[in-house]
Amino acid sequence: MVSKRRILVIGGGIGGLTAGVALGRKDVDVTVVEIKPDNTVAGVGINIPGNALRALRRLDLLDDTVNHGYTFDRVDFHDSASVHLATVPSKLGIDGVPANCAIQRRDLAQLLEKACIDSGVDIRYGTTVETVTPAATGVRATLTDGTSDTFDLVVAFDGIRSSQRKRIFGVEPVHTGYSVWRVALPRHTAVTSNMYFQGMGTKAGLFPLNEKTMYLLHVTPEPGNPRHEREQFFELLQTRLDGYTGLIGDLAAGLVPTDDIVYAPIEEVFLGGTWYRDGVLVLGDAAHAMAPHRTQGAAMAIEDAVALGEVMSRPGAVTDLVGEFQERRFGRCKMIQDASKNILLSEMNTTDQDSLDRQIEFLKNDLVRVAHQVDDELNTAF
Ligand SMILES: Cc1cc2nc3c(=O)[nH]c(=O)nc-3n(C[C@H](O)[C@H](O)[C@H](O)COP(=O)(O)OP(=O)(O)OC[C@H]3O[C@@H](n4cnc5c(N)ncnc54)[C@H](O)[C@@H]3O)c2cc1C
Repeated sequence: MVSKRRILVIGGGIGGLTAGVALGRKDVDVTVVEIKPDNTVAGVGINIPGNALRALRRLDLLDDTVNHGYTFDRVDFHDSASVHLATVPSKLGIDGVPANCAIQRRDLAQLLEKACIDSGVDIRYGTTVETVTPAATGVRATLTDGTSDTFDLVVAFDGIRSSQRKRIFGVEPVHTGYSVWRVALPRHTAVTSNMYFQGMGTKAGLFPLNEKTMYLLHVTPEPGNPRHEREQFFELLQTRLDGYTGLIGDLAAGLVPTDDIVYAPIEEVFLGGTWYRDGVLVLGDAAHAMAPHRTQGAAMAIEDAVALGEVMSRPGAVTDLVGEFQERRFGRCKMIQDASKNILLSEMNTTDQDSLDRQIEFLKNDLVRVAHQVDDELNTAF
């Protein structure tokens, strides 16, 4: 009898839990170790675009995701006074999936965890790896729960600050010079899809998360990546929203002090060569964290996980399969990382009236065409 393939996944975030389901459903023996003591997640909400919804459908998780979320099929762009500039209908809603589904991060984490458990995945919270070393057959991992075992493959889905990536490749994330502020608010009735508002050198946005909740985001230049104290978040966010009128101006004026403001530097990671060395495959944000401007970071982690499950269900040497896997994923992740960065830079390089006017003209005249080129790429098989 052929023994089951054994895979250790480091990190039980969006990618790691999806990998648990994808591998568990393919009869792989999967252990997921998550350093946090439980499945609580920081952050507000997240948009799952159509390409990732199609990936989740391959795991029978589409209905569950959509039932917890808020689907929408377009993005609207405005100026800082809420004057409408452009509507970008998404082309991602093909093959019977919605174009987008916004969902609370907590709901997504819970449904992925449940699917892991139903697929026989061994999830260990409050646990990480102490050592990972190549062995005669596979990789030997010692865990902080006192156990050690040999695996055919270790997959590092340990996020943007990945200690495995740092250990193996010595690569650290790079701050783009910009950061994003987010806060959940009661959903305004006008917010039925993602809405963006181009300011001078900044951009605000509103995302519906479900019938009752939306979140406000604000992307701002934060040169030098300063560390702001949590107690200052409210005041700093309000100050940075000065200059917006219309809907954003009204929401900014109505903000009340809260501890629930999330501040995140926008950082990128790209592993330019192989993602695999000495038995460890680095995936998700650990390999290709990107600006959130096409809402594709988690989407790429989900696609990585689903593709991994499919590749690892086949017979063959793990090193060959990993090569094939990276072939499938590398160009696509690089394409969307570059596209996201280009949007960030074009929105932020609006620091005087001339450059702002050029950006407004771009939004009015060219945005739909450029966005659809990227959608067309994302609609191809991965
Ligand atoms: C402001 C903002 C908005 C975003 N919006 C979107 C969006 O709308 N749509 C979208 O697709 N993406 C979005 N993203 C990106 C998305 O959040 C990430 O791309 C996604 O979470 C990456 O998944 P991951 O599993 O690779 O990493 P994570 O989800 O970060 O998970 C990593 C996990 O590993 C655990 N871990 C870390 N170190 C260890 C260790 N040593 N041992 C064990 N466990 C460990 C962590 O606790 C964590 O649970 C956004 C990002 C930002 C910053």
